[in-house]
Amino acid sequence: MSAVAAASSSVKRSLWRSTVQQTRVRRLYKQGNRTRVKVLTWAAPKKNATHDELAREAFATLMRTFYDRGLKKGFVLRAGEVSYISILETGLADSGVCPLCDGKLDPRNRVIDHFFPQEGFPALTCFPDNLIPICDTCNGPRAKLAKPPYTPTIGGEVDVTDWFHPRWRTAQRQLVVRVARNGNRLELTVEPTNALFAPHVDNFVQLTNVHTTWSDRLRAALRQEQDEVESELRRLRIRGIAVDRTVVQETLIEKRDYYERKIGSEEYAYRNYGIYNYMANDHASIQEILAQVNE
Ligand SMILES: [Zn+2]
Repeated sequence: MSAVAAASSSVKRSLWRSTVQQTRVRRLYKQGNRTRVKVLTWAAPKKNATHDELAREAFATLMRTFYDRGLKKGFVLRAGEVSYISILETGLADSGVCPLCDGKLDPRNRVIDHFFPQEGFPALTCFPDNLIPICDTCNGPRAKLAKPPYTPTIGGEVDVTDWFHPRWRTAQRQLVVRVARNGNRLELTVEPTNALFAPHVDNFVQLTNVHTTWSDRLRAALRQEQDEVESELRRLRIRGIAVDRTVVQETLIEKRDYYERKIGSEEYAYRNYGIYNYMANDHASIQEILAQVNE
């Protein structure tokens, strides 16, 4: 704090301007190129740093300290409204689904992610809209950390034209999962539902690694869903209802539609929609289920 206080008034003004500019980040999504937000360097050089450079670094450190020792420990940002706990428990976290991977989000695995990273955007360190509850896997080393959620431009400005944001331009229902058989392999693709958002979906997939997450457990997930359908249909048969091809297909379509409705509120609904859509249209899958149920 003393390093910031000791800075010249011109540096203080520039810190203020940078802070105001960075908190305009929301407008980028609404107004596109009419708003300009820059990624700035905040770390001071290791050697021969000027007072001003030290002040910038101190400002970033101050924000991080406030986040760790203030906000995280219970400081309330707006009276009765925004606190660390409220961000962690309400709003996006309410859905019970991680906005980055569509996996489960619950009190045991949720953490807060700085969507615009603290390093380049210290002014957003405690900015409620920049604090996104995500699962600890997505916050882990395999996931998004290394990549920025925007396109950097030559002038250092942030371009979000082709990007989703968990609050300001959500990916929800802008993508669909297709599952297809390629020889012996099952393959999953993530496709835009609207061609306008094709680049957004590409960027989202790269940022979140969601294609890998969904593909990794694809065969096991399909097996599990198929088992569930089979035991459901066996119960029908025991009650004396004949299970034929049409009944199997109708059950699969019902399940597909169920997951379509549950997108954003039940874990892995995107992937399960893809799985059921695949099975409902795959002759071999239907035959297999039929054979299992009627054996
Ligand atoms: Zn996640």
